[in-house]
Amino acid sequence: MTPPLPYIGRFAPSPSGPLHFGSLVAAVASFLDARKHNGTWLLRIEDIDKPRTVEGADSAIMRTLNAHHLHWDGKVSYQSDQHHHYQVVIQTLLDQQQAYHCRCTRKIIRQTGGVYQGTCRYKQHAEFGSAVRLYVDTPQRQFTDRIQGEVVITDAHALEDTVIKRRDGLFSYNLVVVLDDIAQGVTHVVRGHDLLNTTAAHLTLYNLLNQSPPQYAHFPVAAMLPGQKLSKQNRARAVDDSNPLGNLRKVLKFLTIWQPECDNIDSCETLLEWATMRWDCKKLPKKAEIIVDQDNSPYYYGP
Ligand code: GLU
Repeated sequence: MTPPLPYIGRFAPSPSGPLHFGSLVAAVASFLDARKHNGTWLLRIEDIDKPRTVEGADSAIMRTLNAHHLHWDGKVSYQSDQHHHYQVVIQTLLDQQQAYHCRCTRKIIRQTGGVYQGTCRYKQHAEFGSAVRLYVDTPQRQFTDRIQGEVVITDAHALEDTVIKRRDGLFSYNLVVVLDDIAQGVTHVVRGHDLLNTTAAHLTLYNLLNQSPPQYAHFPVAAMLPGQKLSKQNRARAVDDSNPLGNLRKVLKFLTIWQPECDNIDSCETLLEWATMRWDCKKLPKKAEIIVDQDNSPYYYGP
């Protein structure tokens, strides 16, 4: 009998600020899933968007994880260390005519209906001042999500020729998340539903690179109002590291696995072990978002 594949999961925060309730949910969900499978749980700092990177946010994130007993395996990786690798892959895709240079600005795309129509596909633009896009002839729009079930992506933006390097020279999230997951051997991705649509671009890239994709699980995101997920932009509060047990109980409530007995558990380590035993992706709500309590909300600074 062939042994089961090893499980490699990861938590991949962008260091644009400290963790807030929504990102702590992502950390806990990916951690519990990895531990449930006796797997590896990696920490990757996604600092690809330099202008949005806040100095010291990576250390603050690690402090918060450690305070909550969410201990990752191995060495922390940084996307900023991988630029050379990303560029080599882009050049290969260009050489193989699987990618091309594009000069269209957002304004031009808006004027032509808002969805990119492959305008520059055969224009042979020079590199300077161009973005790089993938040729997406047959987007991969269907997959089985471990939480959401059968998913068919219909959002036209998610299916257009994906930008893999921006006109300002920054590598795009859609490219680097896939390259890193491949390089780190990631087998399972557990992340928020706000990233569900991007999975189409990721699967298409896996196909182009002849690699097998990981299994995906997209849990509902914490939102203040419909369509407004908690984020730094809408003033989500930083997680209070002095109350880790209370924070973990709230996360377990949000993930619908909390039981009254959780309140009698008095260490993060034991609470996480308790939650690992009960963790089951299939029991999570098949929803895009869950509205967190707004009255006296501990999660965000009010309107
Ligand atoms: N860096 C992304 C974020 O913080 C997560 C990427 C992923 O999990 O694929 O939203």
